[in-house]
Amino acid sequence: MNNFNTKTKEIKEGEFIKNLLQIKDKNITIEETHREIIKNNQKYFVFKGTLTYKPKKCECCGCLNKGYTVVKNGFNELTRINLLKISGIPAYLELRKQRFKCKTCNKKFVATTSFVDKYCSISKNVKFSIMSDLADTLSFKQIAKMNNVSVNTVIRTLYKCKSHVDILNYNTLPEYLCFDELKFTKDSKNGMSFIFLDALTHEIIDIVDGRTEYILNNYFSRFSKEARSNVKAICIDIYTPYMKLIRNKFPNAEIVIDRFHIIQNVNRELNRTRVKLMNIYKKQKGINYTLLKK
Ligand SMILES: [Zn+2]
Repeated sequence: MNNFNTKTKEIKEGEFIKNLLQIKDKNITIEETHREIIKNNQKYFVFKGTLTYKPKKCECCGCLNKGYTVVKNGFNELTRINLLKISGIPAYLELRKQRFKCKTCNKKFVATTSFVDKYCSISKNVKFSIMSDLADTLSFKQIAKMNNVSVNTVIRTLYKCKSHVDILNYNTLPEYLCFDELKFTKDSKNGMSFIFLDALTHEIIDIVDGRTEYILNNYFSRFSKEARSNVKAICIDIYTPYMKLIRNKFPNAEIVIDRFHIIQNVNRELNRTRVKLMNIYKKQKGINYTLLKK
């Protein structure tokens, strides 16, 4: 049956498992068979794969691999990598990583892959899944169980994300700011989140869950008085809590109403008046309504 919205792609048998496991690295080949093992009354799927390629350079001394200066030198011990669950069953990949030897510096190094970090036994797919689960209201224990990892791994992943989103310095703020709102997640407070950025560089400074006066007053209290006094102007849409907040927390800031929002408001009011007026004519019954409508 052919449907307009379905895209079908024929997949060769050998690529099938790799596709199923969402392994994008071309240097990894997966064996076509897999094992099922039972450990402590829990069933596991175990896949086997090999990672090998021709390295462009030596990872120890950096010399280019021209005319076989870097040669293959057997395989490292099997690395057991956590995969995403398959049909609710935990899965592992036993990966054989190629070892290389550099003839220039005489040192050995092991093949690397984008699928899993060096010295790590948890695939990046699992880490992304943990990050996605962390956005929901779940306990560490639940997330650990869902992803077949330890609670410590979940906490470590959270801290890794935290460093990317954390504001390190509450003592400075840019001179010009923009306030806006965005629909963030379904469970965010009042359905809307607050976002603010540097008006000159357009760099996002932070996103706050909720945008009521109370939440924002609390949030901006974390910034030092000097940092808030430093702000010269803030661009906002026409939303009363923002105006109150700026008067409260930013003593030297001027309010700049976004031009787009002014025009949007004028349009909206004009339309509202027009509809009201037209309804009056509609009730009167006569030629006026048809004439004016045209
Ligand atoms: Zn070398």
